[in-house]
Amino acid sequence: MKKIIAANWKMNKDRAQARATAEELAAGLSAGRASGRSVMVFPPFLAIAEVSKVLGGCADTVVGAQNFYPAESGAYTGEISLAMLADAGANWVLVGHSERRHVLHESDSLLAQKTQYALSRQFGVVFCIGETLEEREAGKLTDVLTRQISQGLSGVLDLSKSLLQEKLIIAYEPVWAIGTGKVAGEKEVLEAHALVKDVLAKQACDLSSLPVLYGGSVKPANAQALLALANVDGLLVGGASLEAKSFLNIINA
Ligand code: PEP
Repeated sequence: MKKIIAANWKMNKDRAQARATAEELAAGLSAGRASGRSVMVFPPFLAIAEVSKVLGGCADTVVGAQNFYPAESGAYTGEISLAMLADAGANWVLVGHSERRHVLHESDSLLAQKTQYALSRQFGVVFCIGETLEEREAGKLTDVLTRQISQGLSGVLDLSKSLLQEKLIIAYEPVWAIGTGKVAGEKEVLEAHALVKDVLAKQACDLSSLPVLYGGSVKPANAQALLALANVDGLLVGGASLEAKSFLNIINA
């Protein structure tokens, strides 16, 4: 399976900046430097159309959205629907990112609803999980990851396994490593990814073949070592994906 390298631009870049980064990225990707990798880019909403126009011609590259609301349309002030995102060129979404869980207070049940909703409508989902430092220090790693996976995926287990294998990716992102410069150590990544695979295997339809990405202060300098670890099927990158050169170096690590 190709390693998956995903970029989360968060609330950064206006349309011109996003287009410039996407163009640089497209030039690097079409120079063939990314062969052997699948690439995903999650720009802010207003830049999705620009970025998908630019990256549309690149092989093995998809554009997604960082959020959506699980309803067709209607009185949901400030929200955005999957149909609007599809119209702009996105066909993947992030669900459960730690900033949505902890800053925007999205609950496990809302995340389960969003995951089920998106997968049932031909969108792919990168479902993010991860423990806070307090939870890790309190010895709750297993409980937290088990709860986040079991509750988050509870509504999707009746979908076909082939659809889940094609459209569902898990991203393990320890909250204490996101945007802090503190990458999780080899031992912690190995332990958490083995645990995630184990919890996935115990779901009603054995989901242990789903890709599991690592995220949290990934940089060009540590990407290769992280990708070499057992059960690390790719990387979700925030800060170091904002510059095309740096993200291309991670893709090619
Ligand atoms: C993220 O936003 O998912 C992330 C991992 O951020 P960073 O790479 O900046 O830690």
